[in-house]
Amino acid sequence: MPQQNHKQALQNPIFNILSEAADELNVESYVIGGFVRDYLLKRGNPKDIDVVAVGSGIELAKKVAHKLSGNPKISVFKNFGTAMIKHGDLELEFVGARKESYDRNSRKPFVEDGTLQEDQERRDFTINALALSLNKSNFGELLDPFNGVIDLEDKIIRTPLEPGITYSDDPLRMMRAIRFATQLDFVIELKSLQAITENKERIQIVSKERIVDELNKILACPKPSIGLSLLHKTGLLDYILPELTALEGIEEIEGQRHKDNFWHTLEVVDNIAKTTENLWLRWAALLHDIGKAPTKKFHKKIGWTFHAHEFIGSKMVYKLFKRLRMPLNDKMKFVQKMVLMSSRPIVLAEEFVTDSAVRRLVFDAGDFVDDLMTLCEADITTKNPKKQKKYKNNFKMVRAKIIEVEERDHVRNFQPPISGEEIMNFFDLKPSKEIGIIKAAIKEAILEGEIPNEYEAAKEFMVQKGIKLGLTPKP
Ligand code: ATP
Ligand code: MG
Repeated sequence: MPQQNHKQALQNPIFNILSEAADELNVESYVIGGFVRDYLLKRGNPKDIDVVAVGSGIELAKKVAHKLSGNPKISVFKNFGTAMIKHGDLELEFVGARKESYDRNSRKPFVEDGTLQEDQERRDFTINALALSLNKSNFGELLDPFNGVIDLEDKIIRTPLEPGITYSDDPLRMMRAIRFATQLDFVIELKSLQAITENKERIQIVSKERIVDELNKILACPKPSIGLSLLHKTGLLDYILPELTALEGIEEIEGQRHKDNFWHTLEVVDNIAKTTENLWLRWAALLHDIGKAPTKKFHKKIGWTFHAHEFIGSKMVYKLFKRLRMPLNDKMKFVQKMVLMSSRPIVLAEEFVTDSAVRRLVFDAGDFVDDLMTLCEADITTKNPKKQKKYKNNFKMVRAKIIEVEERDHVRNFQPPISGEEIMNFFDLKPSKEIGIIKAAIKEAILEGEIPNEYEAAKEFMVQKGIKLGLTPKP
């Protein structure tokens, strides 16, 4: 195949500066990797530009920084032989061409200087090994020794070298293969898929942070189930999220079956990916049923139950986040809350929706009530079109009721209309348990709709409640 010229990929004036700098230093230089791939796939204009110099990447970076106006920030990582320049919204990453060999117990290779071809060989996939020349003599020439362009056309993820070696050398590439397959909607070549399966246990030498990074990228895709099912198929998911694989399977006792909660979960994640970009809500969808494996029971009379699985599931969220070194902050708490409350609106949507049930939902979910509704709508995976329609309609009604109740009762961020201090003053009390009882009773009365969420009504209610408790108003 003739090597095509792709000057039009290098129209940004930055490439002229890179070209001049490379020629002045007399080093072969190339744009390589994601930028070239995404250009050929017409995936917008990538902001990350990786440059490889057959020589010193750091020297090239310094020369480029010198030529750029505005005194750009350059970061040099001497140990890695790399340098980075931020220029406007562009991030330029420089590295010297290198050859790598690996130690079995680490992802960190032994590195020596190499040729362009050797550098391309150590790249993870053929589609990520494409290079465009920057030197004036062949500016824009595509160097594609492993037929990456053909793989782009055929939508195939393939490794430049023997896949067994590629994945064993750096097992993070297994996650990257699956992530790119999900992002680009590509197929992983069979030999590669087998090599991943054979090397799956090597994922254990990859840091949790890197694994989570890839998981997040998979979850951010339009159809995360592509990656999740590949993780499952290759056996990687057992190492990463065993809580999920534990949900797989359908059991039958005395003719009673339950649904396969693993494949159900994947459908829920795909559904929610259509309605929200919120990564943490997508995590909530992924984990909403994890409590079902440890709580599953069969009862002769009622069949399968998953009693309190939401509660157990929300506890499991903490352990899972901790194990994966994910942030144990408000994001984690949000996921826990979503898992804990994941069945609440479903109950509402199955029955007649009362105002007080909606008020309680809004009270408990607070600002996250909309997210919770989004999760529950995604949870509808019934294949029965009648039921599907019925549930969707019911959720629409619940949403409308939420707005109505909100406008009237303002319980979303509930503030008690009567303070403890006022109760103490009114009945001339010292701090005591009666105050808590009265406050709780006021809250209940508001949520039940017995009184409106207003000062006057709450005060009247307080007086009556206090008298019932045997208190007397201060004269
Ligand atoms: P994106 O930035 O969209 O995730 P990318 O291809 O630019 O995609 P980066 O992680 O930015 O990915 O890496 C840049 C390039 O470095 C890749 O295109 C690939 O050539 C190479 N690369 C990155 N990680 C690895 C790895 N683990 N093994 C081999 N090559 C890698
Ligand atoms: Mg990149």
